[in-house]
Amino acid sequence: MSAEKHALMAAPDNSRADGRTEIVGLSREELAAAFAGIGLPAFRSRQVWHWVYHRGETDFEKMTTLAKDLRKALAEKFAVTRPGIARGQKSLDGTQKWLLKMPDGQEVECVHIPEDGRGALCVSSQVGCTLTCRFCHTGTQRLVRNLAAGEIVGQVMHARDQLGEWPSPPEGRLLSNIVMMGMGEPLYNYDNVAKALKIVMDNEGIAISRRRITLSTAGVVPMIRRCGAELGVKLAISLHAVTDEIRDRIVPINRKYPIAELLQACREYPGATNARRITFEYTMLKGVNDSVADAHALVKLIAGIPAKVNLIPFNAWPGAPFECSSNNQIAKFAAIVNDAGYASPVRTPRGRDILAACGQLKSDSVKQRISERAVA
Ligand code: SAH
Repeated sequence: MSAEKHALMAAPDNSRADGRTEIVGLSREELAAAFAGIGLPAFRSRQVWHWVYHRGETDFEKMTTLAKDLRKALAEKFAVTRPGIARGQKSLDGTQKWLLKMPDGQEVECVHIPEDGRGALCVSSQVGCTLTCRFCHTGTQRLVRNLAAGEIVGQVMHARDQLGEWPSPPEGRLLSNIVMMGMGEPLYNYDNVAKALKIVMDNEGIAISRRRITLSTAGVVPMIRRCGAELGVKLAISLHAVTDEIRDRIVPINRKYPIAELLQACREYPGATNARRITFEYTMLKGVNDSVADAHALVKLIAGIPAKVNLIPFNAWPGAPFECSSNNQIAKFAAIVNDAGYASPVRTPRGRDILAACGQLKSDSVKQRISERAVA
């Protein structure tokens, strides 16, 4: 099956149905240009940027550093909105998952995973995914559209609302890290992801450093270099197999960009050092990729790359054609990788009870629509 099995719809732009311009998702330069278009000097756009991204303000009326008539004029031309919440769920372990609804009715999930007073937000880059990795639930969703930059930033702003983290706290944040590991392949929506991450990293706004952002890719080789050079975020690679034969089968993008090319791109990744290692994600699938020989082959493959290996126990979903490796087998595998000098933490599944764990995300609305169609 080709990776392009699903039709991919473009992301919406910042013009709203009511004629106003949505501010969230405009770059600094675009905001300044939009303000210049109505005769406002650049410092006004900087003030509004601070209100929107540092203070989290959505109501122009409350932007008290602006004159009253200016607030009114801005509200006529611009809007600052959040995605709607279709549903929020909280796991017994504290993980929270939100199904967010975009203005066109499309839905995506994002997940907050708290840990010792800090926490990561797992952010989606697309509605659905074109990749069809065999063990991933998202890949079974048919409807796919790129998210706009504002819809990606909107997930972070929504989580900040929920966690009560405005204005941007200098430290002690519950939302301290971002992982681009939700629905979608971020490097297939690079422009919007890059724009969103630049907004998120901006020091006068949300201010999450590139060192606290990890972008995960199934291996869109031609985009990896750009990601390193332009964004400088940490890189995670969904490897999951040590031979092209197996990887072709479970991660079909491998047919386009095989393992050797992928690892070469990792060797050349700007900024990969011992302090900023590349993470190889490896989902443990019983009898498929979890043998002792696989573990030895893995450490040979990644030799010379500053790396760690994140072993992910396979998370089941309804109808999944795989089983998770036994704890014993995962421990054996981890020991071999560890002995070879690579940290090999086993990722503790979080939020499994609410289908929020790795590979379990899918917009319920789509499931529902498909089942409705089946009935009709
Ligand atoms: N498309 C990107 C971003 C998604 S990240 C990528 O592939 O990297 C989601 C991570 O969870 C990936 O490493 C993915 O391979 C892994 N994953 C997918 N399904 C899983 C499942 N059922 N159990 C455990 N991990 C899974």
